[in-house]
Amino acid sequence: MQTGKIGVSSENLFPIIKKFLYSDHDIFLREIVSNAVDATQKLKTLASKGEYKGEVGDAKVTVKLDKDAGTITVSDNGIGMTAEEVEKYINQIAFSGANEFLDKYKDDANAIIGHFGLGFYSSFMVSNRVEVITKSYKEDAKAVKWSCDGSPEFTLDEVEKEDVGTDIVMHVMEEEKGFLEDARISEILNKYCKFLPVPVIYGKKKEWKDGQQVDTAEDNQINDVAPAWTKTPADLKDEDYKNFYRQLYPMSDEPLFNIHLNVDYPFNLTGILYFPKIKNNFEVQKNKIQLYSNQVFVTDSVEGIVPEFLTLLHGVIDSPDIPLNVSRSYLQSDSNVKKISSHINKKVADRLSQIFKDNREDFESKWDDLKIFIEYGMLTEDKFYDRAMSFFLLKNTEGKYFTWEEYEKLVKDNQTDKDKNTIYLYTTNVEEQFTFVEEAKNKGYDVLILDDVLAPHLINKFEQKYTDKRFVRVDSDVVENLIKKEDNQKEEWSWEQKQELSPVFQAVCPENKDLQFIVDFQDLGETGSPMVITRNEFMRRMKDMSAAQGGMNIYGDLPESLNLVVNTSHPLVKKVLDAKDKKLGKKLEEVGTQLQVKKDEIAALEKAKEGKKDEEIPQADKEKLDGLNSELAKLEEAKREKLTDFGKSNKLAKQMVDLALLANGMLKGADLDKFVKRSVELIK
Ligand code: ADP
Ligand code: MG
Repeated sequence: MQTGKIGVSSENLFPIIKKFLYSDHDIFLREIVSNAVDATQKLKTLASKGEYKGEVGDAKVTVKLDKDAGTITVSDNGIGMTAEEVEKYINQIAFSGANEFLDKYKDDANAIIGHFGLGFYSSFMVSNRVEVITKSYKEDAKAVKWSCDGSPEFTLDEVEKEDVGTDIVMHVMEEEKGFLEDARISEILNKYCKFLPVPVIYGKKKEWKDGQQVDTAEDNQINDVAPAWTKTPADLKDEDYKNFYRQLYPMSDEPLFNIHLNVDYPFNLTGILYFPKIKNNFEVQKNKIQLYSNQVFVTDSVEGIVPEFLTLLHGVIDSPDIPLNVSRSYLQSDSNVKKISSHINKKVADRLSQIFKDNREDFESKWDDLKIFIEYGMLTEDKFYDRAMSFFLLKNTEGKYFTWEEYEKLVKDNQTDKDKNTIYLYTTNVEEQFTFVEEAKNKGYDVLILDDVLAPHLINKFEQKYTDKRFVRVDSDVVENLIKKEDNQKEEWSWEQKQELSPVFQAVCPENKDLQFIVDFQDLGETGSPMVITRNEFMRRMKDMSAAQGGMNIYGDLPESLNLVVNTSHPLVKKVLDAKDKKLGKKLEEVGTQLQVKKDEIAALEKAKEGKKDEEIPQADKEKLDGLNSELAKLEEAKREKLTDFGKSNKLAKQMVDLALLANGMLKGADLDKFVKRSVELIK
């Protein structure tokens, strides 16, 4: 019997393994099983080169659970180890600068284990004794048993073992007894070992007999040794990809597309990525990509490893260049991992562009499901944005799809305004903005549907990139003003006229502290609507954005502001004006004369003040001026009151405002009821 101490820095290592690995103790089984898989593959390689003449049975790894003995045993018929090799590979955990490294990463056990191939030692996370019983493939090799209780002392004995290969026996410690449960072992194997390239056997297949599950004679192989991503794309049919998806995510809807990654330069990478069906609730869909290293599962939280927007994809990425087992921060800074990320980014764009070119119809039919993903990519990755512009689609209210270029051609002539800006009209809700959409279409404009959560951000991005293009929602102004072609030739009302009439219509606007109406007058033609309610594009966007950010800024606090545009040439509006003249004409004239008198007096006094210093102006004049100003204000107030009273009593004005509200879906409840009753009265 040989005894000894495990090699360099082990004194530091054991406490670290035991103490810091507890958060991730499941991985011990992966480490031991993947070592076993490696060993069988090594033997196969030797045999194929003729260096091993013995029998290479079917390679296989067996996991056994013995509850009574309290052990988990992993056996393989692989390469085995001689006593010297045990000494070399197991005892001497030889690496340079070990102590320094351990110091640096003592809080990050994963980094320690993966970086220095301490995979084997992870068995001590759950065991108070580990035995290695192994027989090398080499001729005349003697089988040995290495045994260690977790302290640096170990023993090494010669033992009897018939077949070439290795058994790793882990005596599970009391605190980790949970690992002696069948379900637990199954779960771990299923997570980490499901796609290992060599059969992994765990117990027997079960069947139902007389109301209970019993073992059959057949081995229970837990893994698929040749998952789809390891095959060449030419050998796979669409159905195979779908089946593999189902294997990965039994509960998910069918994916839209898949991308088979197959790279061997400048790094090795294989994998299959799927575009899942995602709607607006994309947050919940993250972390579905599984990362493998040589078919060994590494992690399924790929943030920082693949570009952010690609975390919405599903599927598998496998690269031997992804270090097994290291910590997240280590992975993220790894240069291979970075290259992988940008490569995937490119591949995804290439694939989408290819699908778009090869089968546009199919691409269009999936666009609505796909767009959120593509928009997310465009917003977060500039490189993807550039690539995506060739297949990013705009959809109009007719349900037609256009590339950016196509759409530009479509609207350029008809929708460019006098300042040479091309105006892209859009709606966020065809139903709610129906009247506006129709008006725009009747005018020969095209209207886009931009209705998803990312659209406002994308609009901002487009407007930053293309300064000669603007996105304008159809209800942000009356149709005449959405795209201003030439300076308004029509005769506008004077400011005085507008000011005088604004109280009449202000009086019939709904009163609501969260909603503010600004009355404006425009000539929309005799056949236009008498009144239109619009929402200013800029204000709306600011409010929307502040709402998205939690509403804590000045735009969020402002009441909703709408424009009530009164059509100055509409016959009904004229009727109201005539009624006003009839009812108030005389009085307003009187007030007008009085106002004029005051204004003249004020003007005279102001003129006398000109060029004088304050102290040179007689006190009496100052007082007189103040008095006049306040009288003027009173007169104006009185005038406004008269106009307001008139407005309130004018059913026609009220009716027109209500019609405009109705067109915007804003007339509800008691107001709607009153409107209906008033309508009946008016048509009687
Ligand atoms: P790594 O697998 O990264 O090399 P490990 O700590 O997991 O590091 O294993 C250390 C070494 O021990 C392996 O490289 C291998 O030479 C040897 N070894 C471990 N398990 C076995 C096994 N089942 N059969 C043969 N050799 C093994
Ligand atoms: Mg290993």
